[in-house]
This record gives sequence, structure tokens and C-alpha cells, in this order.
Amino acid sequence: MGKDNFKYKCTDCGKEYDPGRIMYLCPDCSASNTPGLPPRGVLKIIYDYQKICGSFNTFEELKQKGYIDLLPVKSVDSLPKLKIGRTPLYTIEINDGRNHSFRIHFKDDSQNPTYSFKDRASALVSAFAQENNLNTIVTASTGNAGSSLAGVCAAQRQKAVIIVPQKAPLAKLTQILMYGATIVPVKGTYDDAFDLSILASKEFGWYNRNTAYNPLTIEGKKIASFELIDQLHFRLPDRIFVPAGDGVIISGIYKGFEDLLLLNIIDRMPVIVAVQSEKSDNLIRNIGQKEFKIIPSATIADSISVDIPRNFFMAQQYIQKYKGEIITVSDEEILRASSTLSKNTGLFAEPAASAAFAGLISYQQNRMIANKSTNVVLLTGSGLKDLKAVSSLIDMPESIYPSVDNLKKLL
Ligand SMILES: [Zn+2]
Repeated sequence: MGKDNFKYKCTDCGKEYDPGRIMYLCPDCSASNTPGLPPRGVLKIIYDYQKICGSFNTFEELKQKGYIDLLPVKSVDSLPKLKIGRTPLYTIEINDGRNHSFRIHFKDDSQNPTYSFKDRASALVSAFAQENNLNTIVTASTGNAGSSLAGVCAAQRQKAVIIVPQKAPLAKLTQILMYGATIVPVKGTYDDAFDLSILASKEFGWYNRNTAYNPLTIEGKKIASFELIDQLHFRLPDRIFVPAGDGVIISGIYKGFEDLLLLNIIDRMPVIVAVQSEKSDNLIRNIGQKEFKIIPSATIADSISVDIPRNFFMAQQYIQKYKGEIITVSDEEILRASSTLSKNTGLFAEPAASAAFAGLISYQQNRMIANKSTNVVLLTGSGLKDLKAVSSLIDMPESIYPSVDNLKKLL
């Protein structure tokens, strides 16, 4: 079964596990996990970096092969035939008129087939399932991961079962149904959906895509870092602003750069800034704390509204090891950032993604963006996914009878 170019490594005890079977959490460390706290024993996928180093001359060679040497699947042919990843990077020069200028690059992952970053993870999970004859994939989701898995499984002729809290935004629920997945709305939170999905995979033998549970999701997400370094012509950005909820996307971005570091393709880690809503800051508030404390989340940015950040321990490890930065922004700042972004760039991002931009704006206001610096903002999903969140920004005029006089009045 599967490919043997990788190993699973526990982020807590460091124990390594051979591939060749389906692994989720480290059996040793997860044995004492308790509900209501982030899980221990999340696994990371590692490769024989020395061997890979000797197998290529240029990064371009790795890219031409679809980075297959750094993926836990046998063939890129197992990936869905949708255009996943390879998303655009838009550059904007900011000049504040005081001889202070800097550059913002927006990595627009709303351009994925189901309009979110999550397609990167779904693609890899789906490919692995195909290579291992696993026909049904289940996931718990607040919306984006579910709509993504549903779309990818439709492309791959696989069955998807999506367990969502009933309050997920309508657009995401609609996507799931349109893609033909089985949807299971639960009376409860994302955490309830998460627990049910794990019980369901045990009961029915379904493959489980849950983030911070299935180690492949990070491997899919890390490819965004490979693309970034390529699009920036190997100039490492000074900062990368990433929206953070459960800590999986940010870990994926770290993992991508860590792979590049281990292959000597880059020589240092860029500063990665985890941006959370101040109404959902359970990840960054708990970093370095002895006791994990949860404050119920209430942000409008539903994709990063998280009570238990499932990938807390891995994200914390990365942030501490590579001196990452953290910042919270208010919901008002998120909405303002969303409006500024749309009106100045033509990019309409969902609130979670706008939060990352709000983080950059806050840095700028506090004069923390260096002159001539290069900054990346990761836009993780489309604004069309959650129209209700921005309804307070919209002032729709009354309709008029079509005459020039009425038009003049309206203008
Ligand atoms: Zn362990």
C-alpha cells in the first residue's frame, strides 16, 4: 500500500512511524487526549531530505514534476484534474509619501475550484484515498473544508460525507449539496461535528480528512509556500500574514518553507504572522501558557472562528522555533480591511482572509512595516462564500423608475 518515501513523525514525542498504513494521531500521545482541549500526537510527514537533495539540481526540476518527491502519494496523476493551487500573486506598491515604500503581494487562493485554500488539502487527501482504494471520505467542517472536499470528490468520482454545524454559511452548504456530497448538519458546534466524523470513520471504515487529524492536509497546504518562493523569484518575503483559526494553514505554510530549508533551497525562514480575530484568539493567546484556556469564539470571520484550535501544539512549535509573530484584529478592522481590499484591488475576500490583510494594516499603522520591505498576505477564500458577514458594509440604493431625472436624483 502507498509510497514509502516518507515517514510519519509525532510532533509531541518525536516517534517515527513507517508508511504503509493509514495513520492519524500518534497512538502513544493521543491515548490521553481529553475532549475540550487541543489534541496531542498530531503527526507530521517527513522525507529523506538528504536523498532528495542529491536527486535534483534546480528547484525548477522539482516543480516540473509537480513536487511529487515531496508528497506522500505515488503519482501526480492521482490528483484531481482540476486547477488546484498555482494561484495568482498580485503585487501592489505602497508609497506613503514620506519616502517610505513597501510592497504587498496578495496570494489569491480564492482562485481555487471551490474558491478556497482548502482545495490544496482536499486534493492530496483525495489522491491518497484513490491510490489506497478508499472510496468514501468524511470530514467535519465549518464550511470551506467541506465544500472543498465535496467538489474534489465530485471530480474524482469519490463519495464525500460532510458533517457541519447547522449554522454554517448558506453558500458553503449550497456548494456541498450541489457537488452531490452527503451532508450531515449537526445540532452543535464544529467540535461536535469533529467527534462524530471520527466515530463515523471508525464505524464505517471511511477515510477521514479532518485537519489536525489527517497528516496529509498539511502536505497539501505546504505547496502554497513552494509557489510563493517561485513567484517571488526566490526572494524571501520579510513577512507573510496568514489568517489563523485551528492552526493548520499556518503550519502548512511553515512546513512548506521548512522543507525548502531542509533542502537548502532557502537559507532562513521568513517571518510568518499569525492573525486572529480578537473574538477568536484561542490559538495565539495560549502560546507559551502553562494551562490551555478557551474563550468561546464569536467573530464574524466564520472560517477562523474556533474554540479548540486542533493544531495548537504544532502551530505553537513552529511559531516558537522560527520566531513567528502574532497579532489580533477586531471584527471592525476585518470589515474595514475587506472593504479596502475590494475597493483598491478588485479582490473580494471572505472575512477570514481579510483578517490577514487587517493584520498588515495594523502593522503599518504601528510603523512596523520596514521601508522597501516585501510583505505577503494570504487570501484564503472568496468573499462570495459569506455575503451575510459583509452586509453591514453594503448600502443598496432603492430602485428607481428608469429616467434620467431619477438617475440624477440617485447620483
Ligand atoms: Zn507521540
